[in-house]
Amino acid sequence: MADDIRKIGVIGAGQMGSGIAHVCSLAGLDIVLSDVSMEKAEAGLKIIDGNMQRQTGKGAITEADRKAALGRIHPVEGLKGFDECEIVIEAATENEQVKRKIFTELCPLLKPETMLATNTSSISITRLAASTDRPERFIGIHFMNPVPLMQLVELIRGIATEDETFDYAKNLIDKLGKTVAVSEDFPAFMVNRILLPMINEAIYTLYEGVGSVDAIDTAMRLGANHPMGPLQLADFIGLDTLLSVMQVLHEGLADPKYRPCPLLVKYVEAGWLGRKTQRGFYDYRGEHPVPTR
Ligand code: NAD
Repeated sequence: MADDIRKIGVIGAGQMGSGIAHVCSLAGLDIVLSDVSMEKAEAGLKIIDGNMQRQTGKGAITEADRKAALGRIHPVEGLKGFDECEIVIEAATENEQVKRKIFTELCPLLKPETMLATNTSSISITRLAASTDRPERFIGIHFMNPVPLMQLVELIRGIATEDETFDYAKNLIDKLGKTVAVSEDFPAFMVNRILLPMINEAIYTLYEGVGSVDAIDTAMRLGANHPMGPLQLADFIGLDTLLSVMQVLHEGLADPKYRPCPLLVKYVEAGWLGRKTQRGFYDYRGEHPVPTR
């Protein structure tokens, strides 16, 4: 049961992996955090420190909580320490080949009873599970971005996922104080199935010259009462992740309505991936974000 969890492995120390490590450490768990290099794993810890300092500034956590939580997160080289984990959550780049390769290297190191989860936004849980040695102990745990602030977690069973695995994951989410919504294993699950075509449509609206970046975001903030404009949100999610999810929807559901906007493809080809690269539909290099179109 998740009450027994002491040590958790997180693979990928980007936006999501660092967020997952952040909330798990505040809940008292020990974390091993890995990425493609020690430098990247350590950079993840720095991001977590910055985000926790913001929380202490707001009085959401104490200075003692922050110090103790940071002390529980261990950036590691390769997959060192993953053999001791009770559950591993994979949060690497949204690319099926990357994830499969990770599982191939990871599985032989794990204890037979270790649970395995993926934070994928869109890829089939059943297919990813089948690439491991433990499909019955494999599950989709889909956190939302930014993890410390977002209340929802989608839980997705693969075809072979056992009830024990589901209960274990559900208990972990409860322990983090978050709320579960259960989704069937269909491309992009629920939140992204609904949200990302809307963002893709906003990019078509820009592409077809119906409105500027500023006009489209203002329209949706003030006209639909969205807290963030869709293009601002696209930059926040990461345009590479967004494109990848649209491709999975397009291929997985074989419906042309999910065709990724060519302008989104162009931004990704330029390496303008949004906030994480300082440029996307907005340029973040100055004091204030400036629309790039
Ligand atoms: P990101 O680009 O910020 O981070 C991905 C990290 O994975 C990078 O640090 C990269 O170096 C690392 N990585 C790549 N290959 C690796 C490997 N072989 N081993 C270890 N690490 C590796 O992306 P992100 O936004 O954190 O997304 C990560 C996952 O979370 C994706 O599956 C994505 O779909 C999912 N997700 C993203 C969001 C979002 O809003 N961005 C929300 C929910 C879920």
